[in-house]
Amino acid sequence: MTKPRGLLLVKSGGDGAVPEWQAGFREFAPELLVRGWNDTSVDPGDVNYVLVWEPEPGRIAGYRNLRVICSSAAGVEHIVRDPTLPPHLPILRMVSQETSQTLGEYVCLAALSILRDFPRMIAAQAERRWDPYEPPHTALDKRVGIMGIGTIGQVAARMLGGLGFKLSGWARTRKSIDGVTMFSGDDELESFLSGCDILVNLLPDTPETRGILDVRRLAQLPHGAGVVNAGRGTAIILPDLVAALDSGQIGAAVLDVFEQEPLPAESPIWRHPNVTVTAHLAGYASRRARAAAVVAALEALERGETVRHLYDRVRGY
Ligand code: NDP
Repeated sequence: MTKPRGLLLVKSGGDGAVPEWQAGFREFAPELLVRGWNDTSVDPGDVNYVLVWEPEPGRIAGYRNLRVICSSAAGVEHIVRDPTLPPHLPILRMVSQETSQTLGEYVCLAALSILRDFPRMIAAQAERRWDPYEPPHTALDKRVGIMGIGTIGQVAARMLGGLGFKLSGWARTRKSIDGVTMFSGDDELESFLSGCDILVNLLPDTPETRGILDVRRLAQLPHGAGVVNAGRGTAIILPDLVAALDSGQIGAAVLDVFEQEPLPAESPIWRHPNVTVTAHLAGYASRRARAAAVVAALEALERGETVRHLYDRVRGY
């Protein structure tokens, strides 16, 4: 097997994280040199790979021997916004088993929290009030719909299925997934939404998905449906969601991602009684797991194989 060799420059987690990245890569690609983004001893001509989070626009174009750009997270918006980015370079999204596992766990946590009204339990404890309410439903009565059922969504679906939820999925292209009632394309979005007791958004941020959950689409969900957003904040028009929560059209929401992060302190969402806010922490992977995922993808690229997590500039994800 051809192990990646050459020099990888890393900008993720600051200078303090460089030793951990080096240890991770040493384990999986011992011949790959790993240096920090601010290491002034690095000759730009020696850089073959970059692993980055929010690189300064213009900097990547200066590495003339660069072969692959790796994102240190699942999204690549922070890379592709650079107008000087060389168009021929492959861009690798970060998707590791750990990311899918942790995001799947988060989606289960959110779905169960909505099902059992966990915020009510927390509120009762805060007031030292004994509140032994009975749940009106079990997971067996509820359908969770995953909007953007790709790599992570399919792991989440398996985990939700294990809890007993009925499952639907919506994707851009038609596909069949065991145990999941599938929908695809704009024409089938309304039918998909109308069956979701709990909607989980896992769509990437693209021109087509931006603002997709607006007043019209939220109204197509069953009255009182739950909404979970662990994809990207840009998918939901937040004032439309607040209005839908206020009217009862949406019964509860669990939100991990926002158009503006950190969520501004003055946002009404923080204090909404039916909303749980988390700080973009749904999917997580250790540096070691991410190094392993990058090495596996670089090896596959070297062998000329199709790599699942390459960013497609035409599709936009
Ligand atoms: P994938 O690319 O594997 O899946 C994306 C899914 O969205 C695919 O099913 C795709 O359809 C579908 N899709 C894309 N555009 C459209 C469209 N216009 N209409 C309908 N469906 C569409 O991505 P991952 O599963 O790896 O990641 C999903 C998202 O999770 C990431 O983009 C990121 O936003 C988010 N994420 C969030 C994290 C967090 O901490 N909150 C951490 C990691 C990821 P098709 O299958 O047909 O291509």
